Amino acid sequence: MDDTLVRNYRARHRVHEMIADHRAETLSVEDARAMAARIQRKGPQAVQALFDRLFDEDDPNGHRMAIMLLTEMDDPAVLEQTRTFLKRPHLPERVRVALLAIEALRADWESGDPPATDGLPELTLDSLLQFSEDFWETMEMEEISTMWRENFADESPEDRLLMLEMLMKTAHPKLLGVANLEIAIGNLKIIQFLAQKLGQFDDPLAMRILQRLLLHPHLVIRTVADLSLEQIRERAVRGSTPKLPPLPEARFYRAHMATDAASGHYSLIYSVKSPDGQIKFLVVLLDRWDRGIIDCWGCVHYSTEEFNQLLAAMTRDFADLQQRRIPKRTALTLLNKAMDLNIRRNHALPLELAVWYHLFDHEEFKDDPSIPVFGVECRMCRKAVRTGPRLAPPWVVGDLVVCHRCSTRPLRCPVCGGATTLPKCLVTHEDTSGPLDLRCPHCFETIPIGRVRRSLNEK
Ligand SMILES: [Zn+2]
Ligand SMILES: [Zn+2]
Repeated sequence: MDDTLVRNYRARHRVHEMIADHRAETLSVEDARAMAARIQRKGPQAVQALFDRLFDEDDPNGHRMAIMLLTEMDDPAVLEQTRTFLKRPHLPERVRVALLAIEALRADWESGDPPATDGLPELTLDSLLQFSEDFWETMEMEEISTMWRENFADESPEDRLLMLEMLMKTAHPKLLGVANLEIAIGNLKIIQFLAQKLGQFDDPLAMRILQRLLLHPHLVIRTVADLSLEQIRERAVRGSTPKLPPLPEARFYRAHMATDAASGHYSLIYSVKSPDGQIKFLVVLLDRWDRGIIDCWGCVHYSTEEFNQLLAAMTRDFADLQQRRIPKRTALTLLNKAMDLNIRRNHALPLELAVWYHLFDHEEFKDDPSIPVFGVECRMCRKAVRTGPRLAPPWVVGDLVVCHRCSTRPLRCPVCGGATTLPKCLVTHEDTSGPLDLRCPHCFETIPIGRVRRSLNEK
């Protein structure tokens, strides 16, 4: 298998050299065809190298050459590969356009064939092997993690472990996102492999992941993680230089929040900026009442301008939700309170969070006291309020939350004997924890909360 990697690398390298020797604007169609045939004869690795060129931002000639050669290639696999790439999330726009062009031109080539109707081909674990180190350079860590999550998270743990052993041979820091993801998936054999492997990575993120593994419930994983951390520290003491450059250090950029008080939901945007000015951000949907983090997604490769446009569009779309910019500390309080709630109430965190977690997990902060309690109790029965798409929503006025069951139970006024329900009563309350003042809709007499609870119990 090692040998395969080496041969792959050589085949790709030759193609890169071949392309660099020609100018796209002076290449004739005949020459392009001849060159395409030559590359094809070198095998699938060589063809793959052309796709590599598509992703290279800094080589416009290579980019154009790759498009020309790929469209001239008489091979159905080219179309298949193109469509596979097109399915990848967050493709740079330039690459997407190039792939669409190749797809259109290739489809012309193969016209006469029935169009593919039964879905597009999937990436396989084997096809990952064909991605060289150069290839990782073209992708952000989060894109690699997302690709892993979407294409491989469902493969068997044995296959994934085998693949991880191959991929992580060179300890490329961009694969640390995949480590985060696999730890969230939670297969013990894989985590143990990672706990050991991470000791060979020279990146602060590897240390952060290992430090988290020191809290793992399994002793063997804690022990292996501890040894790995020791390995990293020893290398630091010796002053050995990392073989690969560390991940660029992104800093907090901006956070925005929108609130929907009637549903207990917050949507939060948390962004960071890399030294090269690129913005990455995650969008998180939080449920303050019960479920913590419900959903999460993110993007990379945004310019400041694009990010501002996105914010403006969201502000327009959610005008009623008062979207506003919030301090970093407020954002971190929200994220951490929400994650605590997920754990406390046993709601699994979305797997996608593992792709973006590293953007904020290392930030130190003091809780923002203006953020209300996460995880609410019904003000009538004092049981935890449960929320979810299939559950009837609780009854809410301001910050008063009453579970659906309590709010729909028939009540009887102890003074006039009239029948009512909670939402029909006049309700006032002092603060989030103080007593409720209920007034009967028939006689306007106060129904003390104790009496109501008793009459509920009597039912
Ligand atoms: Zn209740
Ligand atoms: Zn009454």
